[in-house]
This record gives sequence, C-alpha cells and structure tokens, in this order.
Amino acid sequence: MNDDIKKNSLDYTLFSWSKQGNLNPIQVTHAKGVYFYDVDGKKYLDFSSQLMNVNIGHGNQRITEAVSKQMQKISYSFPGTATDIRGKLGKKLAEITPGNLSKALFTIGGAEAIENAIKLARIYTGRHKIITHYRSYHGATYGAIAASGGDPRNHPVDTQGVPNIIHVENPYFYRCPWGTNSIEECGEMALAHLERVIQFENPESVAAILFEGESGSSGCIKYPPFYLKKIRELCDKYGILMIDDEVMSGFGRTGKMFAIDHHGVTPDIMCLAKGLTSGYLPLGAMMVTDTIANYFNENPMILGLTYSAHATCCAAALENIKIIEDGNLVENAAKMGAYMEAEIEKLKAKHPSIGDFRNTGLLGCIELVKNRETKEPITPWNAKPSDMEATQKMAAKIRELGMFTFVRWNWIFIAPPLIITKDEINKGLKIISEVISIADEYCN
Ligand code: PLP
Repeated sequence: MNDDIKKNSLDYTLFSWSKQGNLNPIQVTHAKGVYFYDVDGKKYLDFSSQLMNVNIGHGNQRITEAVSKQMQKISYSFPGTATDIRGKLGKKLAEITPGNLSKALFTIGGAEAIENAIKLARIYTGRHKIITHYRSYHGATYGAIAASGGDPRNHPVDTQGVPNIIHVENPYFYRCPWGTNSIEECGEMALAHLERVIQFENPESVAAILFEGESGSSGCIKYPPFYLKKIRELCDKYGILMIDDEVMSGFGRTGKMFAIDHHGVTPDIMCLAKGLTSGYLPLGAMMVTDTIANYFNENPMILGLTYSAHATCCAAALENIKIIEDGNLVENAAKMGAYMEAEIEKLKAKHPSIGDFRNTGLLGCIELVKNRETKEPITPWNAKPSDMEATQKMAAKIRELGMFTFVRWNWIFIAPPLIITKDEINKGLKIISEVISIADEYCN
C-alpha cells in the first residue's frame, strides 16, 4: 500500500522539471501548520511553504469550510455570470492592492496572469515590446517563460518563443554587473542601462516593463531603495505600462501585503497567484488600474479562460485573505523576518561559506561561496549535474534532517509559512547550520 503511492505516481505521472529516472519523491500524506508528514510518519519542517505559496500554513480548516459551503451552493459557473463570491473577492482585492488598482481578471495560476498582462499591455498600448529582467521567473507557459529572461528553464524552449521580449540586467549588487561599490550606485547603473535599452528599442514600441515585486527564485535580488520609483518615472516618461509580478511576493510574504508596498509605487497591472489562496486551490489574478479598466468600458477586452472567476477557488481566496488579516500574518512575517536576519547574521561568524543573505520579510536566500573575497560560488549558476556535488549533498542532508526547502546551485531558500514562530525558526536554522557545514568544506 505504502509502496503504491510512489509506484503509481512514478509509473503513471510525469514530475516537473526533472529527469524521470531514479526520482525518489517524498510520499506526503498530511500536513498541519509549518509541518508535513510522509507515509512513514516522518515529520518535515516546511521552510519554503512548499512552492513559496502556503502562506497561512497547512491544514487550516477555515478554508475547507469556506470551500465546502461554496460547493454546496455552486462550484462553477460560466465566467460571463456574476456570482456573490466573485464580486466579494474582487472588492477585497481592490481594497488591499495599492493606489487605483481596481479590477481583477481571475486566472488559474501565476503564468496565466502574466500571459494576460502581456496581452492586455499590447492591446491597450498598441505597442509590442515587453522589457523584463534577465534574472527573473514569471511562469512556464510560452509568454511567461520567454519573459523569464536568463532562467535556464527558458533555454530548452527558445528564449524568443514569444517574440519582442527584451531583457535587461538586474541591479544584483552582490555581483554587480557594473562592478560598483554600493547598492545605490549599482541601482543607478541598472537604471541608466534600462533607459538606454528603451531608447535603442524605440520607446514608442515598448508596451510594458515587467518585473517581480521582490525577486524570488532568481536569488532574492533586492532592489535598491529608489529603483522601482525610478522605473515608475521611466514608464510615465515614455508612456510604458508598469507590470508588477507579485505571484511569489504577494499576500504578506515580504512583511507588507505586497512587495511593491515597500516602495510606495502603484503599478498599472499587478499579477497575483500563490499566496492568493495559499495554494489550497489554484487561482491567479491580473489586477488593473481604473484607468485601464475604464478603457475597456468602450473597447472589447478580448481575454478569457474557461475557469476564470471559478467560484470554489474564489471562496478559498477570500477566506485565505481573512485568515491573513485576522492572524496579523503580514506583521508576523515582518517580525519573524527581522528575527531570521539577526540569527543568520550570527551564523555568518560560524560558517565561512555564507557570502550573502538577502531577505525581505520571509522571502530570503543564503548565497554560498568558496571564498568571501573572490565570491566564487560553491556551485556555479546553471551548473551541469557533474558540478553540483555540494548542492546535491546539501539537498540530501536537508531531507534527511526532516526539512523541506529548495537549494538551487549556491542558494538556499528560506520562505516558511507566515505563521512561523521563533521556536520553529530556531529549529529550522539548526538544520540549516548543519547543512551549511557541508558547504564550508568546499571553502578555500
Ligand atoms: N511569477 C513568479 C514571480 C513566480 O515565482 C511564479 C512561480 O513560481 C510564477 C509567476 C508562475 O506561477 P505559476 O507556477 O502559478 O504559473
């Protein structure tokens, strides 16, 4: 019976982003709070909220009840119908998103929110080019993966699978492409580079600049404090739309409801998913400002999906947002994030391989290096499997010690559910410290 779980999954289903041979997936059975359990009863501390989406933690029965109540009334209705739950969720999102963002197009997940944002920006502006960062991830559908610049997940499917997507360098200060000495200077260089690219590409052909509200799977690259404000200014100067991808960084993850709230800027379009339902059911959304929404009062909005505004998923989202608010989870993320930062600062003294820790709220990455002076990574970016020894050893150790999180090349991700306590953080950092001892052995 136990073996059937793994055997059936491996024999009859394909696993994302992997060679299918020799996979050994955890056989998950149930979960509660910040923990989940496997078929043998082994407990795992979920230090990445699964895919950085289970923001409220596992097993919250308020969602089960809200979903069940909705399904007793109606589970699904044609997206052209009005439902109570759709309207209530739309209204709530208009209240909690910044500025004049006022209407939502509901999608199935993050990638479809991005696809629709790209299409809408092209329709609305009559322009065709979209600028994104090389170091970014926006989803796996064709437009979204083409937007994901230099992410190696983009390489096998053709970086220009969707044409007219232009990439720029990030202000990655730890490895500043312009060799600067301060995060501010690196930010200024990145902005000057961005403006040059806009001019070379012809500003009148650029529909939108798309960026993550806070960088996630590309290494949690922090924006310089003024960076997004200045992007807003560039967008206004050239009539370009600003698209903020809050799929990973939204719903309290960074210690504010949305990561862009740290910058006091309102984008024209905001993309949401993941923490919108905390992963309990699939749902995404593309929010637009009242200006854009009004344009479509007179012009047809040629966008749609069979499962847009799915009533059951909307019920999960509305209850999820109430849980975030009732539990002050945004504040807890900010508080626990500050605690995490102080504790990891202490780990730096113990572990020579910690080169950098970049964190906002509970979205953080430890960057591991062989040498703090040269910053040579423990595992190079986009390394071949044969160069991944340290990464593989660390990933195996994390699992052995009863933790779940991602190790990507030389980054260890730390993004636990927003309900986490100090005690649970201490337990997690004890495991992380043991894992980083493996990286220390590669230091020179
Ligand atoms: N945008 C960002 C910033 C993401 O991190 C992701 C997924 O990790 C996506 C978009 C795509 O979301 P989904 O996997 O729900 O399509």
